Amino acid sequence: MTIIYHPKLSTELEKYGIAIPLCDDRSQRVFERLKQDFPQLKELDLSLLEELTREDLKRAHDSDFLERWFSDEEFITQILYAYDCQDPSRYLPERAQAPLTQLRESILSQVKGTVLTVKTALEAKKFCYYLGGGMHHARSYTGAGFCPLSDIVIALRKAQKEYSLQNILILDVDAHMGDGTAEITKDDPTLTTISLHMADGWPIHSELPIISSDYDLPFKLNEEESYLPRLQNILFDSDIMEKKWDLLFVVNGADPYEGDALKSSEGLKLSKEQLLARDMLIYKWARDLDIPQAWVMAGGYGEKAADIYSQFLLKILHLMG
Ligand SMILES: [Zn+2]
Repeated sequence: MTIIYHPKLSTELEKYGIAIPLCDDRSQRVFERLKQDFPQLKELDLSLLEELTREDLKRAHDSDFLERWFSDEEFITQILYAYDCQDPSRYLPERAQAPLTQLRESILSQVKGTVLTVKTALEAKKFCYYLGGGMHHARSYTGAGFCPLSDIVIALRKAQKEYSLQNILILDVDAHMGDGTAEITKDDPTLTTISLHMADGWPIHSELPIISSDYDLPFKLNEEESYLPRLQNILFDSDIMEKKWDLLFVVNGADPYEGDALKSSEGLKLSKEQLLARDMLIYKWARDLDIPQAWVMAGGYGEKAADIYSQFLLKILHLMG
């Protein structure tokens, strides 16, 4: 297995005056916790990150959006929208230490991390976990919900092309619906999407139409007990089991946790134990079927999010000895 981490691949949103309750250092906290038990873990060698071409981005985003994304002025408008900065408490330019336009390179670096994660999982035919990534609300024509670009679809379509892959399963267990991934992949039978999410509370942007995933499993508050059985059922459903999957891509949000700090993820309250069982169920399903697995962090807010990621990764690292 491989864990991909480097401090330079974090968002550092505070540096740009953007105030969302994402702990900028949550990846670092997870990595440090893992290193306590596994001191041999190493930070990523950044020279392994491949440059992305406009062609790579175009596999997920339309040309108009990319034009705007690469023009400084329109990039700022786009980024403030993607991070929900219409809410004035979310953007405090007086606290910024760097111009917002620098965020563009930082976001592209994070996308490169997802690209490398997919590639590593495919080449090693194993489990690879990226302590970053998972921008599942980004659509073909706009960023949204703290997700400026679709690292997911960019990485998967690039891998499909370079490794001649047929079918990829995208399993999104973030508290929020994977609506952006669903929009970009809606006419693409080679990318199958499953999303388990809160039934209520998303999207908060009513101006963006809701696009269904191939399989949507919504949960209302107090339906948490059915979460694991329904996850098990969909993974072992005959439609899913019949297909040969070249890769499982997991959008591993920690925000369904009952201790999550984001207001808009309060619609689902899984316990720490349920989240560990969720992650182990997914991991073992793919391992037993010999499907390479690429995992990304996605949402997980506040002080306690790092514990959710750490408990799972420690368990896997210990399993592997
Ligand atoms: Zn989320």
